[in-house]
Amino acid sequence: MLVTAAVSSNVTDGLYIVAFSLFIYGMSGLTGPRTAVRGNLIAATGMAVAIISTLIQPHVFDGSSTPWLIALGLVLGTAVGIPAARRVHMTAMPQMVALFNGVGGGAVAIIAWVEYRHHFLTGGSNWALKSEIPSLLAAIIGSISFWGSNIAFGKLQGILPGRPIRLPVQVVFNVTLFLVAVASAIVLAAGTHSQALFILGILLAAAILGNMVVLPIGGADMPVVISLLNAFTGVSAALTGIALNNTALIVGGMIVGASGTILTNLMAKAMNRSVPAIVAGGFGGEVSAPAGGAAGTDGTVRSTSPADVAIQLSYARQVVIAPGYGMAVAQAQHAVRELEKALESKGVTVKFAIHPVAGRMPGHMNVLLAEADVPYDLLREMDEINPEFPNTDVTLVIGANDVTNPAAKNEPGSPIYGMPILEVDGSGAVIVLKRSMASGFAGIDNPLFYEEKTSMLFGDAKESVSEVTSEVQAL
Ligand code: NDP
Repeated sequence: MLVTAAVSSNVTDGLYIVAFSLFIYGMSGLTGPRTAVRGNLIAATGMAVAIISTLIQPHVFDGSSTPWLIALGLVLGTAVGIPAARRVHMTAMPQMVALFNGVGGGAVAIIAWVEYRHHFLTGGSNWALKSEIPSLLAAIIGSISFWGSNIAFGKLQGILPGRPIRLPVQVVFNVTLFLVAVASAIVLAAGTHSQALFILGILLAAAILGNMVVLPIGGADMPVVISLLNAFTGVSAALTGIALNNTALIVGGMIVGASGTILTNLMAKAMNRSVPAIVAGGFGGEVSAPAGGAAGTDGTVRSTSPADVAIQLSYARQVVIAPGYGMAVAQAQHAVRELEKALESKGVTVKFAIHPVAGRMPGHMNVLLAEADVPYDLLREMDEINPEFPNTDVTLVIGANDVTNPAAKNEPGSPIYGMPILEVDGSGAVIVLKRSMASGFAGIDNPLFYEEKTSMLFGDAKESVSEVTSEVQAL
């Protein structure tokens, strides 16, 4: 019996190494749009290997557990997960990520609860500190991640207002909640007769904290928050792995924790923000009146036609296309590719300006443009393209708003002040394609639309781009 268990544990360890090698190899594929789908499939195969390796461990089917419940969980998770992931629109991806991420954190918190029940209520052996401490920490972090992710989902989905919602003594309140959760964990680990009270103290304080940490964060900071919560879920999963002595969970959790932390820092840097300042709250999402006459703005707006835009573009030396969320909504990427080809055939140099948080997920514009076969060497990151705007005759802003808003540079009172932008107003002329004068994700007016060099081409981005392309081809 002992021999079988030893052999089996060697097999499991071997399979775990295969699983996380596949995770790491798969992740390396995610560094470029061309290899991303394959990388994702490889990492998913790694996850399947990890699940199978866990299920074949001797104690799983030794009669003390209920295999049909495990099977039910797998079937339910697959039945919900696959159609949800297949049907989600690219523009709703951040909500999806927030939801899936929250489920991970929630699962970790539930595992801690089950372990607590096993050791204190149903006569399990003494809960050794080496697994109790990581379990309780995982319960705190996983619970914060679950509740925080739900709030992020609500804000992104428009169920909750995107603007910051905060209490007058927010920071004191949050610190108190954190201390209550940690103190409850210490009391529980030190040994107490009121275990139920303290485990509930941990889960409740962490749950309220998760809500309170994300509610004051405004719309424009949501990408960073989702990435931060993702890192939290990874760390909590790794802690659970330590508690359960499960290598795959430790490695998988740490990969998510480390990559989430790196992404969080990169995105915070791209928005010229520090992570503590974001968590302190209040950036973006302050809903001001939309731009235009109705908002009482004195500035006039020049509207233009596809034929005029076509002439401007066709006689330009260099055109820069700055895409944003509206291009994703309109699914205009293929039409944009056609326009790029039509302009190049007339000898116009075309480049694409990619802002790190354009759209609704990191790399959103890169993915869409790769899908439409836009050559990768035409894409320029923000730092690379900004010095080129003064040498650009026309910039075509397609469904982008916040990422081009000069208020981020010029208006210290603006909620997005300090966020680096695509400095499109440096080019000779700017043409903005959008449907109305409505604001973007951050809910604020964009002075770019009133500048003398700016013309607005109103309409759905896909239709407008197709009309401009036809006019260019007809010239
Ligand atoms: P914005 O959200 O600022 O603006 C998008 C614009 O697209 C809107 O003003 C809208 O105007 C226009 N639009 C919508 N549908 C269409 C359509 N069918 N045709 C033409 N235009 C359309 O987008 P940006 O990309 O400039 O900025 C991204 C924002 O999202 C930033 O604030 C960022 O912080 C935030 N964010 C980014 C995430 C990321 O990871 N990239 C994740 C979550 C949030 P109108 O309605 O008038 O057409």
